[in-house]
Amino acid sequence: MTAPKLTLFNSLTRALEPFVPVHEGEARVYSCGPTVYNYPHIGNMRAYVFADTLGRALEWQGYTLNHVINITDVGHLTDDGDAGEDKLEQAAAKSDKSIWDIARHYTDAFKADVRALNIRQPAQWSVATDYIEAMIEFAQSIADKHCYELDSGLYFDVSTVADYGRLARAVTEDGEGRIDTVAGKRNAADFAIWRKTPAGETRQMEWDSPWGKGAPGWHLECSVMAEKLLGFPFDIHTGGIDHREIHHPNEIAQNQAFCGCGGLDEAAHSGARIWMHNNFLIVRKDEGSSGKMSKSSGEFLRLQLLIDRGYHPLAYRVMCLQAHYRSELEFSWEGLGAALTRLKRLVMQVDKLKAELAASKQPEGSFPLSAQERAMFDEAICGDLNTAVVLTQLETLLGAKKTPAAKRIQGVRIADQLLGLDLLSLTREDLRLNPVAAEIDEAGIDALIARRQQARADKDFSASDAIRDELAAKRVEVMDGDSLGWEWKLD
Ligand code: AMP
Ligand code: ZN
Repeated sequence: MTAPKLTLFNSLTRALEPFVPVHEGEARVYSCGPTVYNYPHIGNMRAYVFADTLGRALEWQGYTLNHVINITDVGHLTDDGDAGEDKLEQAAAKSDKSIWDIARHYTDAFKADVRALNIRQPAQWSVATDYIEAMIEFAQSIADKHCYELDSGLYFDVSTVADYGRLARAVTEDGEGRIDTVAGKRNAADFAIWRKTPAGETRQMEWDSPWGKGAPGWHLECSVMAEKLLGFPFDIHTGGIDHREIHHPNEIAQNQAFCGCGGLDEAAHSGARIWMHNNFLIVRKDEGSSGKMSKSSGEFLRLQLLIDRGYHPLAYRVMCLQAHYRSELEFSWEGLGAALTRLKRLVMQVDKLKAELAASKQPEGSFPLSAQERAMFDEAICGDLNTAVVLTQLETLLGAKKTPAAKRIQGVRIADQLLGLDLLSLTREDLRLNPVAAEIDEAGIDALIARRQQARADKDFSASDAIRDELAAKRVEVMDGDSLGWEWKLD
């Protein structure tokens, strides 16, 4: 049986397409990175769990992965039109820290979340401000044919490239009905590729350019870093679904201009062969309506809050993996709790499996997985990254008690490769709820539980009840006979 070919949904064609690499044996992927003016929220992190899953699937298929994630430390405006302020300049104006310190602080916070979620480091992190010179060169190379200057900056004329806005499926004549607050633009959808510092003002981040002192536009950054690090065309460009509407159509227009290529019937003219977008993490508002989690609205959850409330960060990864990346995912604490329980169950099953394997004295190699058993995982991940099915296939294999342990453990190894849950090394203790606000630490709970078990063994039920009450006073509920073998939980 030959392995199924990796099939991915291309937002540009709105179709599932087989993955065919530009360079044999290699997969080059660019993911739009975070704008580092604030902490990343768990919705942002969904975008990188998705990009990581894509990378794992590509490696699983035998490609050498060259993944780039950028750090946007300049150029992203508060408004997707060109009238807003730079998000980092605005954050710095409200703080006593320099813009560089702010960028560094939130970049570090982002990377900490990346680690906590077991998202693998990309081959290259690219920081936008390291590429200013290259951005100016890129802009110069397209300026004559595709751009015009206004007092506020250098603007890209979207009518100079074929099929502008195809990615967004937008009606371009009216500029997609989006914000048009800059006087003098030729088309409402035209966008700044270089923003001049207004006369009499100084920005913390500004550079000399042929169009005066200023800063690059956000869309320019990603075109330039992708071209420099991966070359056009590269294989796959990823981002959240919001980028499908403005940021990526604008990147594509610049790429077409830079390459001097034609329309988008040929996907590679866009700079990448495949454009992929994860859907939003949404939150239910009090009134029952749902909305996208966003940094700018200020209503967002950080991964650290989940950890502080006692949830292991990989429970959030499970939550992401249970949903298809192209579906909206609604966050709730109950849902997170259910994901944690699922993860606990998996960890405990793997624990038992390891013991079984040791007792069986059978080396893993003695029972290789059959082509059919491997295909269960293969088909799921190769069918546009169906991680939800990979999870259930794993559970099915773990539950197949007649299948030798030596075989089942290989299924876990494959699932770890594809899902990044570290099931082979995660322990029960790692997953215990341990909120920062807890009134007793785990060692204290374990000591009391052990004393209570002894009391029960000695049939000293009044002592056992007293310990139960003592724990209850500290908001720890003892769970006798829990099917998971978890002896306690926090109330
Ligand atoms: P930003 O830091 O705002 O530039 O966003 C970083 C990444 O997170 C981008 O790929 C966004 O498209 C993505 N993103 C933003 N909000 C959400 C959300 N609520 N759910 C999923 N992805 C999101
Ligand atoms: Zn980008």
